[in-house]
Amino acid sequence: MLSFLGEDIIIDWMQDLKMDIRMVDLKGQYDKIKPEVDKVLQEVIDSSAFINGPFVKRFQQNLEAFLQVEHVIPCGNGTDALQLALMALDLEPGSEVITTPFTFVATVEVICLLGLKPVFVDVDPHTFNLDASKIEEAITDKTRCIIPVHLFGQAADLTPIMAIAQNHQLKVIEDTAQAIGCQYKTNEGSQYCGTIADIGTFSFFPSKNLGCYGDGGAVCTNDAKLAEQIKLFGNHGSKKKYHYDSIGINSRLDGMQAAILDVKLSHLQDYTQARVEAADRYDQLLSEVEEIAIPYRDLKSNHVFHQYTLKVLNGKRDLLKEQLTKAGIPTAIYYPSAIHVQEVYASYHKGKAPLSVTEDLCQSVLSLPMHTELDWEMQKYVTDHIKEALKSI
Ligand SMILES: *Cc1c(COP(=O)(O)O)cnc(C)c1O
Repeated sequence: MLSFLGEDIIIDWMQDLKMDIRMVDLKGQYDKIKPEVDKVLQEVIDSSAFINGPFVKRFQQNLEAFLQVEHVIPCGNGTDALQLALMALDLEPGSEVITTPFTFVATVEVICLLGLKPVFVDVDPHTFNLDASKIEEAITDKTRCIIPVHLFGQAADLTPIMAIAQNHQLKVIEDTAQAIGCQYKTNEGSQYCGTIADIGTFSFFPSKNLGCYGDGGAVCTNDAKLAEQIKLFGNHGSKKKYHYDSIGINSRLDGMQAAILDVKLSHLQDYTQARVEAADRYDQLLSEVEEIAIPYRDLKSNHVFHQYTLKVLNGKRDLLKEQLTKAGIPTAIYYPSAIHVQEVYASYHKGKAPLSVTEDLCQSVLSLPMHTELDWEMQKYVTDHIKEALKSI
């Protein structure tokens, strides 16, 4: 009888311990800003300013002020932002664009869609970003542009990249989809990612560091001519209604999303702080785990932790992920496969050497839950399970 009672207590205790851990927690974040968000949404509906109008304008101006950049051009999403940036550069078909194979597909997709040729350069094993020391050897007489990605929230090494670009008269587009608010230390002091090269692109996909409640994106530049072109291409190539100067696309940020983004932009510094604190706690909790490499912190950049991405050593990544899934802990693999080995993109890399750093990373990276609502208790739970699982693998 007594032992029966004991088991009951243990089962209760275990159920108490089971925690609801989420990879991202947009609902938890919304609950804290609900009155602000609900109020502006009602204002948008009451004003019927669904497309363009004052809410989009206000967000555009506030983002320009935040980033300290001359021109922000809001658009439909981060993929369109990249496409508009490339369209504005007006490159001849067949031009080569150097980029990273360790990224979300959008970075490469738009290059190919515009009849340009992606040239893949391997990444740095610590930062996971484009390895600047390998760019020069990939430059040919057809190279016109470099697209570094500030992956997981940490800046690509822009100082050498910009120097190479200047030497070879190349344009640079910063894919800043994962790193809004991240600052990179240039010779002139710290500057926001996205504002350092010719053009920067942003995504406001819900789970990004500044996310809306649907699709959204933006392009930014300090070059007035480029800004004009980006605006033109995003508006059907038209400046004057029913008159077309170019063949463009339709890519707009809508009023509802702009209003939500404007509210969330005012909290962005706090959100970034919450992510950094969560990352610091993970670092501390995992610092003595032998088969885990915690994220590298590059002194030239801060890290806004869009993702907290570990390297799991000794080939244990997949088994660790499986065990964590069984324990109800979500994790993700960004990215399980490099772009240059995907069937539809492999032809662009045909006959070239393997990109071994990227290919190795695809086998070892594991991203842990990362969002603004994490606390120590949740993270202790996650890391305790990691330690326990690694013992049995
Ligand atoms: C999310 C993302 C994009 C695309 O943004 P969407 O808004 O989803 O179109 C582009 N590049 C990178 C690196 C991304 O993470």
